[in-house]
Amino acid sequence: MAVSLIDTHLHLDAPEFAADCEAVVQAAHAAGVGRFVLPAIHLPSCTAVAELVQALPGSACAFGIHPLYVKEAHEDDIARLRDLLAGGRACALGEIGLDGFVADADPELQEWFFIEQLKLAKAFDLPVLLHVRRAQDRVLKYLRRHPVRGGIAHAFNGSVQQARIFIEMGFKLGFGGAMSYSGSSRIRQLAASMPLESIVLESDAPDIPPAWAPAQRNEPANVARFAQILADLRGLPLDAVAEATTRNACEVLGL
Ligand SMILES: [Zn+2]
Repeated sequence: MAVSLIDTHLHLDAPEFAADCEAVVQAAHAAGVGRFVLPAIHLPSCTAVAELVQALPGSACAFGIHPLYVKEAHEDDIARLRDLLAGGRACALGEIGLDGFVADADPELQEWFFIEQLKLAKAFDLPVLLHVRRAQDRVLKYLRRHPVRGGIAHAFNGSVQQARIFIEMGFKLGFGGAMSYSGSSRIRQLAASMPLESIVLESDAPDIPPAWAPAQRNEPANVARFAQILADLRGLPLDAVAEATTRNACEVLGL
C-alpha cells in the first residue's frame, strides 16, 4: 500500500499498552498504519499523550476530558486545560462529548464539561474529537448552541440523518472495529454509503476489538484491516480508501 494510514483515535497511554507500547507502534507501522492521533481522557492523560507523541513523527495528540471521567474532574480543570491548550501542542479538543449509555453517568455534569470544552475549542479555533454514545441529538443540540470548526465524530453510531448533520457541521465520521461485525449492519451501511470525503479510520484501541479477536486487546495495526473492510464495503481499491481517509484526517485536524 503506497499511502500510510492514520489511526485517528488511539489510547496509547492506556495501561493495556504500558508494557509493550513500542512493539505496538512497530506492528502498526509494519501493517501500513504510520501515523496516530492520541486523544486524552483527563488532565493526567493530556500530559501522557503529549509525551508519547514526541516519539511518533507525523502524529498528533488532543487534550480534553472524556464524558465518563467528568466525575473525577474539577471545575478548575477547565482553566488548567486552557493553559495546556495555550501551549499549542494539541491538534484538537478531545476526547469530549456525552455518554448516555453508562447508567450512573451524571448527564448534567457531562453537559457542563462538554459545553465548557466546546467554548475552549471555539476560543482556540481547534477541531473536536467527539465521543457520542446514546446522545446523538443532545450532542448536536449543544454543537448548534456552541459551534466549532468541526472535527471527528468518533466511533460513529448514529442514523443517516444524524450523520448528514454532523457532516454539514464540518465533521468527519470515524469508523473502525464495529465494521468488522456482520451484525453491525447499520454501521456497515453508513460506512458503505456516506461520502468518502467524510470518513476517517480509527482503532479506539485498546477498546472495540474486531470480530476476528473479540476477547483481545485491540491494536492500531488493525486499522489496515479496517481499511480493507471499508474498501470492500464500498467496492473500491484499497489504495483509494487509504488515500482518501488519510487526506480527510489531515484536512480536518490540520496535520
Ligand atoms: Zn476513545
